Amino acid sequence: MEKVVILRYAEIHLKGKNRGYFERVFSTNLERALKGLRHELRRTSGRYLVAAFDEEKSDEIMRRVSRVFGVHSYSAGLLVSNDIESIFEAAKLVAPESGSFKVQTHRGDKHYPLTSMEISAEIGGRLLGENPALRVDVHTPKHTVYIDIREGGKALVFGSFEDGLHGMPVSTAGKGLLLISGGIDSPVAGYMMAKRGLTVEALHFHSYPYTNEGAKEKVVSLAKILSEYTLVHRITAVSVTHIQEEIHKKCAAELNVTLLRRFMFRIAEKIAGREGAKCLVTGESLGQVASQTLEGLTSSNAVVSLPVLRPLIGFDKEDIIAVAKKIGTYEISVLPYEDCCTVFLPDFPAIRPSLSYIEEEEKKLDVDALVEEALSTREVIQL
Ligand code: ATP
Ligand code: MG
Repeated sequence: MEKVVILRYAEIHLKGKNRGYFERVFSTNLERALKGLRHELRRTSGRYLVAAFDEEKSDEIMRRVSRVFGVHSYSAGLLVSNDIESIFEAAKLVAPESGSFKVQTHRGDKHYPLTSMEISAEIGGRLLGENPALRVDVHTPKHTVYIDIREGGKALVFGSFEDGLHGMPVSTAGKGLLLISGGIDSPVAGYMMAKRGLTVEALHFHSYPYTNEGAKEKVVSLAKILSEYTLVHRITAVSVTHIQEEIHKKCAAELNVTLLRRFMFRIAEKIAGREGAKCLVTGESLGQVASQTLEGLTSSNAVVSLPVLRPLIGFDKEDIIAVAKKIGTYEISVLPYEDCCTVFLPDFPAIRPSLSYIEEEEKKLDVDALVEEALSTREVIQL
């Protein structure tokens, strides 16, 4: 008898001809997620098994696989020989101490001498005989003992299905660059694109010394949580301090944020080019703030040729918060901090500035030189 974690995978099975590729990436991702923990990853038909791990690490294994995209469901279970004696020994360990229960059997191996019903009846009967505190209820049992007869003379016995994240394995959809701030939205945006298989690299802009080390640490903490899903364990940081000072000095105050965002996009596109990222990702949501009107989004799009993915564009703040809570970034996102956008925030930002007005104001700046200078401040932080 062996303790295992059983993984069933999700949308991958839809991918017809590419199935082999998707499965290879999926198992590589599982290995990456389990890095540093002793284990063995085994492939059986339609399932993966994590085995040979240290007993005290089983919760950690469950936690890590719960964050891998492509996992449909997972269970802590026991792998045994498929004879009734062995199945019964495992079922005793999985069964509750008291209360209502049923046994549910699935036969992956259709040559097994007993039918699913017969196996369930046999094991259920034996469990009852052994423990008078149990009661069978096939319709609304409090507990279920699941038996899965596998090929190769093996069976899996387990007590529950945990819902996985679903989605596509990361890195099956190419690479993108997430603009990550310390707020609630951008980590959620990164999570959502990773769920569609994107490799999500992250870029943060800071305004040190106007913003302090705490602001950076906050983003690093967020990026660390995000990395459990994206499996990308680094983040790039770039200073936009001088850009903000120049904008503040020379341009109309109501365009501060709009102009800064155009710089952010330009810099992001350059960094994306160096990292082989084929799109930008932001946490923008239509109408959320002055810079996220259609005019605002258009003015940022106008300076880049890469597509900009905005997975939250139609989300309400409450929807975004719900995801942030689920993935574990919310608590950090709401800690107080100074974002670079807030440092030179105008009293009245322009809500619908025309592109010609923006471009006119921008002519007062040496855009190329400022972008190059900002790129020279680039640092890569390993998480
Ligand atoms: P968030 O909650 O993610 O901070 P927000 O509601 O504060 O978003 P904005 O500040 O307008 O909205 O930012 C919109 C998007 O621009 C963010 O979701 C993020 O993708 C990007 N962004 C904003 N500030 C930064 C920053 N300092 N570094 C990198 N990207 C940023
Ligand atoms: Mg923000």
